[in-house]
Amino acid sequence: MTDNREKYLDLLRDLIAIPSVSARQEGQLEAAQLVGQAFAEAGAEVIIDETYPAPFVFGKFLSHDSAAKTLVIYNHYDVQPEDPIALWATNPFELVAKEGKLFGRGVADDKGHITARLNAIVDYREAHGDWPVNIFFLVEGAEESGSTYFREYLAKYAIEFADTDLVIWESGEVRGADRLEVLGGNKGIITFTLTSETANRDLHSSFATVVDSATWRLIAALNSLRTPTGAIAIDGLYDDAILPNERENELVRSLDVTPTKIKQDFGLQRPLLSETTGEDFYDNLYFKSNLNIEGIQSGYQGAGVKTVTPATASAKLEIRLVPGQIPEDIFQKVVAQLAKNGFGDIQAELTLATPGYRSDMTAPRIQALIALGQRLYSEVEVTPTSPGTGPMYWANEYIQAPIAAVGLAYDDSLVHAPNENIRVADYDKHVELIQALIGSYEVK
Ligand SMILES: [Zn+2]
Repeated sequence: MTDNREKYLDLLRDLIAIPSVSARQEGQLEAAQLVGQAFAEAGAEVIIDETYPAPFVFGKFLSHDSAAKTLVIYNHYDVQPEDPIALWATNPFELVAKEGKLFGRGVADDKGHITARLNAIVDYREAHGDWPVNIFFLVEGAEESGSTYFREYLAKYAIEFADTDLVIWESGEVRGADRLEVLGGNKGIITFTLTSETANRDLHSSFATVVDSATWRLIAALNSLRTPTGAIAIDGLYDDAILPNERENELVRSLDVTPTKIKQDFGLQRPLLSETTGEDFYDNLYFKSNLNIEGIQSGYQGAGVKTVTPATASAKLEIRLVPGQIPEDIFQKVVAQLAKNGFGDIQAELTLATPGYRSDMTAPRIQALIALGQRLYSEVEVTPTSPGTGPMYWANEYIQAPIAAVGLAYDDSLVHAPNENIRVADYDKHVELIQALIGSYEVK
């Protein structure tokens, strides 16, 4: 067992040494091959599908029991860019052990999950001679860039997943000292660009007494999508949204997230939106959409002064979606609202669309996973949905089984940020948890 621990920590070291940054399309084939090779050595049938720019690695660990169900594990070998590099205390592409922690880009998100889970799979077979469940380990390479080909890939291999009992998601956290989070959903998202064009070229700003600029036009259009207090004003936004049930409402209110904590963490200078709009903090964070401006571009931002009246302005926006909201429909509602508000001249372009998904946390398989967590950790925190986005919806469309995220990151893992790290104890415990999960398929 110790041998495997060293072996898979070495694999983690090798994986972290590959800067598989999907945003730069770097190192993806190399990382895919390394994962595929490790799967094959561990006894899997491996398919590396290189049809996609970021190859998918599919490792099938087959039980000898022909009646065995299938457990799907989903992970990704790509990572976020390491910038800003100056803020790293260690080399981002070197696994560094320090004070009970492991540092390196991807150690939490998501390479540490890959090696810990593989370690558990191998340990289990060595201890018991076989797996009581088929384990289909699916690793993609473009998760950090919107999982562009995930849906297409799943459609292609859907038949393989027919007997799936449970899907273990790529990420997950241990909160506080030893509280395992079991997460069952994520929001969807649309991203879109709004552009205002008001002239065939920028003007000398002396004309701004008589000529309105694209910048003001765009700002007015953006403002028209909210009430003065900051509530979203898009007709029909929640027409098809699936409302949380009583249990889900209770669960999110028991989480370790509070208005006070958010204000302190981010040093907020302004009241929360829920305070200005009178909407409910938890309802908004977990079960409602945002309307976020990701960036605005217009006019002159260089050194000194340039007296110019811009002819174009554009903004990148996003709306996070909850289950039931259809991405293309929500985008059309934005377009319709702009037209209704008198901004039919604003051009809108949809750039990304993923629906949201929530598992039924009362499903027997998820309840059993929660029970396993309660045995190994001092507490379990059940979270029906993350406020963030991921491709769970597509997974559920083609792998019709409950999805849950349980993982080895923790509150200070600094995922996507400099000095990404995990606690060694969480890593080791995750290996145990996955082994216990595999063991739970043993017929008693
Ligand atoms: Zn990530």
